[in-house]
Amino acid sequence: MITKALISPKSIVVVGGSDDVHKPGGATLRNLISTNFQGELYVVNPKCDTVQGIKSYREISDLPSVDCAILAIPAKLCLAAVETLCNQKACKGIIILSAGFGEDSKEGGIIEKKIVEICNSTGTGLIGPNCIGVMTPQYAGVFTQPIPRLSNKGATLVSGSGATIVFILEAAMQLGLTFSQVFSVGNSAQTGVEDVLEYLDENYVEGESSKVLMLYIESLNHPDKLAKHASSLIRKGVKIAAIKSGYSEAGSRAASSHTGAMASPDKAVNALFRKIGIIRCYSRIELVNVAAAMMFPTPSGKRVAIITHAGGPAVMQTDVLSSNGIEIPHIEGPKAQELLTKLYPGSSVANPIDFLATGTAEQLGHILDACENDFDVDAMTIIFGSPGLTEVYDVYDLIAEKIKKANKPMYPVFPSVYNVRNEIAAYHEKGLISFPDEVALGSAVAKIMNRPAPITENELPPVDKALIREIVDNSENGYLSPEKTQQLLDAAGINRTKEFVASTSQEALKAAKEIGYPIVMKVVGPVHKSDVGGVTLNIKDDVTLASEFTRMMGIKDATGVLLQPMLSGTEIFIGAKREDKFGHLIMCGLGGIYVEALKDINCALSPVSKDEATEMIENLRSVKLLKGTRGKEGVNIPLFNEVIRRVSALCEAAPEIFEMDINPLLGNSRTLTAVDVRIRIEK
Ligand code: ADP
Ligand code: MG
Repeated sequence: MITKALISPKSIVVVGGSDDVHKPGGATLRNLISTNFQGELYVVNPKCDTVQGIKSYREISDLPSVDCAILAIPAKLCLAAVETLCNQKACKGIIILSAGFGEDSKEGGIIEKKIVEICNSTGTGLIGPNCIGVMTPQYAGVFTQPIPRLSNKGATLVSGSGATIVFILEAAMQLGLTFSQVFSVGNSAQTGVEDVLEYLDENYVEGESSKVLMLYIESLNHPDKLAKHASSLIRKGVKIAAIKSGYSEAGSRAASSHTGAMASPDKAVNALFRKIGIIRCYSRIELVNVAAAMMFPTPSGKRVAIITHAGGPAVMQTDVLSSNGIEIPHIEGPKAQELLTKLYPGSSVANPIDFLATGTAEQLGHILDACENDFDVDAMTIIFGSPGLTEVYDVYDLIAEKIKKANKPMYPVFPSVYNVRNEIAAYHEKGLISFPDEVALGSAVAKIMNRPAPITENELPPVDKALIREIVDNSENGYLSPEKTQQLLDAAGINRTKEFVASTSQEALKAAKEIGYPIVMKVVGPVHKSDVGGVTLNIKDDVTLASEFTRMMGIKDATGVLLQPMLSGTEIFIGAKREDKFGHLIMCGLGGIYVEALKDINCALSPVSKDEATEMIENLRSVKLLKGTRGKEGVNIPLFNEVIRRVSALCEAAPEIFEMDINPLLGNSRTLTAVDVRIRIEK
């Protein structure tokens, strides 16, 4: 839990503070002093009466009451310290920097747990252990450097990894990004990333709270909580970018169907982020570029003007923007002509707007005004460096002034991080942001412009929930029988082929009469039927039927045969896989053998909205095939969308479904018919 004492403490004690600034306690104290903490500052150090000029107490019990304590002492001493602080010193915020707890040993884990108990019972917020600390505009309670510029208007950063925070801050400071709050949650003993989100959500104040949130997550322990508060924050206008590392971890090994194995916890993370509207990033550099770009006004469309005095970077930025679907519209007309007269001969306003290496601040001013007021663009990038001959303060000052008044985002790229480092530093000094690399900025802007709207609708097609419950409650763990599978599909309103199960050749012949030739025969029992010669298509007569029946009953694990009419259509696939803590991941793609060969599948987390299902289908590489191409009949796409959501509705009604695989559904422009369905229950 995050308490007021952790955000804006009136008094802080550094337990274990010393004169040695190369140790965490000494470094934390130095940081608090150098950033001018305005409240009362104390130290506990058994050997000193003053430390770095601050009064030091020999023991915690000697301290006056204190809001917040930062502990930089060995793990085994922390429990007693926390006890005294919480029970006798009215301390409501504890930050434990020390390592040696649950991450280290079983005994460490026990101490950690006891500390959490004390904090919980006294309403104390606990950060860490094993972290770098907390920063807010009121104090820099960390032992590390650098300390970024701290301001209410800055971004908020929350991370499970302390070292990563340091590196993220270093990258961010090169862009001039400022921070409102930084939380290093360490072991998340009491307070994890999700809990910080809860705090940020519940304490959000329009006009005051941070509008940009950066997350670095290693393990997502409470996706529900994250979804709830991140969604709420986004509804309030907060923009969120996050790294979730560890995406290369092996997929779901527990899955036994081929398609189930293609689901993975990482796909669930993607689907969750997509649903919430979080922009997923994959590197620190990407995270800081996206977050820094999010600090600008949100562009209202996807049209960018690239303003430059150098050709190459503009070409590279054009490439990255346009390959990500962002438009660099051609600019022409009387206003463009008028602008051209204000620039040196040889300049171009067609977009990229190139005002040449000799271009001046005044000319740039005209260009920015035209882009803001006259041209139909939603954002501008301004690429301006220096070959090192002259200073560029005038240009950067002008950009600073224009940015303040602009309604459209103007993203400055200052590539000369060496030649004009002083000008860039002065620019950042004003609390403004610049980007060193045009391509990194371009891909960040594209991510922001392409971010799909968060999903708010979750109404699913109606299914017979009572019947679904009855069937599932009366089933054992494992794969459902063909009969139960049929019943579930019917209860969920998913169209399936007529089929009969036969265990004698007499029954098979009778079923064939009922269905009518040509017929498809499949072995019942083995999971992957084709792999064991258990599917025979296009059987046209009784003789073949009888001999195939005998052959199939000889297949290992065969318990019967299934007879279906021989249908035709495009093979598509819909599947579901329960992902630990996330709920069901619903998948779709081109079916049959293509699923595994092309791995062209998309997924969304249940409940799947109409928009999500549309995106799943439209983003398939094979979407053109599905829609029908070169005279070949396509699949009924609205129906495909509906069946995806019916599978989602079925999983919502029966969370016991561990895996489900409809492969294939045979589709044409009128209907979709399931011909092979496996449902596995794990209660
Ligand atoms: P499995 O996936 O266990 O190998 P399927 O029932 O999916 O078995 O059958 C394998 C393939 O046979 C399907 O991908 C499809 O191409 C074809 N097939 C199956 N049932 C029918 C049917 N009723 N009509 C036409 N083709 C079918
Ligand atoms: Mg199949």
